Amino acid sequence: MTAKAPSEHPASWYRASVSVDLGPCPPLEGEVRADVCVIGGGVTGCSAALHLAERGYTVVLLEASGIGHGASGRSGGQILPGLGTDIATVEQALGLERAREIWEMSREAVRLTAERVERHAIPCELAWGYLHAAVKPRHVRELLAFRDRLARDYGYPALSWLEGDALREHVVTEAYPGALFDREGGHLHPLNYTLGLARAAREAGAAIHEGSPVIEIRRGKPAVVATDRGCVRADFVVMGTNAFQSGLVPELAGRVMRAANYIIATEPLSVERASQVLPRNDALSDANFVLDYYRLSADRRLIYGGEVSYTGREPRGLQARMDAKIARLFPILRGVRIDYRWGGEVAITLNRAPDFGRLDDNLYYAQGYSGHGMALAGLAGKLMADSVSGQSERFDVFAAMPHRRFPGGERLRTPLLLLATTFYKLRDRL
Ligand SMILES: Cc1cc2nc3c(=O)[nH]c(=O)nc-3n(C[C@H](O)[C@H](O)[C@H](O)COP(=O)(O)OP(=O)(O)OC[C@H]3O[C@@H](n4cnc5c(N)ncnc54)[C@H](O)[C@@H]3O)c2cc1C
Repeated sequence: MTAKAPSEHPASWYRASVSVDLGPCPPLEGEVRADVCVIGGGVTGCSAALHLAERGYTVVLLEASGIGHGASGRSGGQILPGLGTDIATVEQALGLERAREIWEMSREAVRLTAERVERHAIPCELAWGYLHAAVKPRHVRELLAFRDRLARDYGYPALSWLEGDALREHVVTEAYPGALFDREGGHLHPLNYTLGLARAAREAGAAIHEGSPVIEIRRGKPAVVATDRGCVRADFVVMGTNAFQSGLVPELAGRVMRAANYIIATEPLSVERASQVLPRNDALSDANFVLDYYRLSADRRLIYGGEVSYTGREPRGLQARMDAKIARLFPILRGVRIDYRWGGEVAITLNRAPDFGRLDDNLYYAQGYSGHGMALAGLAGKLMADSVSGQSERFDVFAAMPHRRFPGGERLRTPLLLLATTFYKLRDRL
């Protein structure tokens, strides 16, 4: 893999504002036995570990770096219903009834996030309100059609269309011809949320080992999950490795592509300035294919994300472009100081739908949320825990979604993806 490992990116503002103390999670040493070995300490893995431990399973979670070092602790923090792909893609593949079930589960994922934050008293600044903003007339038509389809076929009541003064009550810019307001969407501090899930899993009895990269899974019953200093013998293995599974399981090769995405955090804005940007504290993303997204932190920094790289190298001129975008959207922020800039890895599938599945009878995986996993990864962890305890119907609804490998083999995958993205970037300009 050419992309940077997550720890190679500069530290995020999230890291500088951690308020959940997980305590020491020393690397795995020697051989241990567990009912379930969870690989990966992002939302997927921590959620699975929490649900499994709550059900009385013995759980060992192995994280290569630190809890939240992957996408979960670096993301835009938007907690949204839906998937990384249009629900129409799911409908085409599985039919309306299954697509409805998946849509409802995506809503459940958001509720589950909120329930956990409350139940485990996770200090992660959860706030509600999300805008999906049109940048051009084509987007207006697409978003209105989306709202109508969701109301008609999915009974989704939470979307309303805003434009003009009504829109400026939510976001103070002239840049958008209109936006869908989704009252079921929201945002949070993603690293504190992920650490909070890990803390809850630990309190429920899970053993967590950071600094424990898994180098091999010897499949069988039990399976043996090996790090360079120890191993876990487990009846079940749950993988939440997302963009980083790099060859642990041959069947998963090429099913997700890694792409880096970048975020900046400004200096804290005064109350007055913040109210001239996002007066209602909503999160927002625009409707471009390579999209920009932003929100305010609790200390009123503008957390602004966008831009993508498939090479692992930060795009040239990133900071200047981010500055220019912010100044164009919000002229009052011209010259605002940027305190932090960081990146993180997204796992993308070819159809942008998440990829859940089971290999052998005892190895589960959930990956490829395609930039839309903060809420869904939590549900994925729960559904894998359900499956381990014999209730796999809901997991199987997701697992039925067909997925293909990215074309081009190891050598040509990245160039082909670059080509496709360039096409969509050009389309974004039309
Ligand atoms: C910059 C950015 C912005 C984003 N913004 C949003 C957003 O606003 N809203 C949204 O819904 N989604 C967003 N996403 C996507 C979202 O963050 C992810 O879909 C979600 O966090 C995936 O969680 P995960 O636990 O599956 O993966 P990750 O959080 O990536 O966790 C995987 C973990 O597995 C560990 N690991 C990998 N291999 C091994 C191994 N061999 N041994 C042990 N451990 C291993 C890694 O170290 C990592 O910690 C964003 C992503 C990025 C990068």
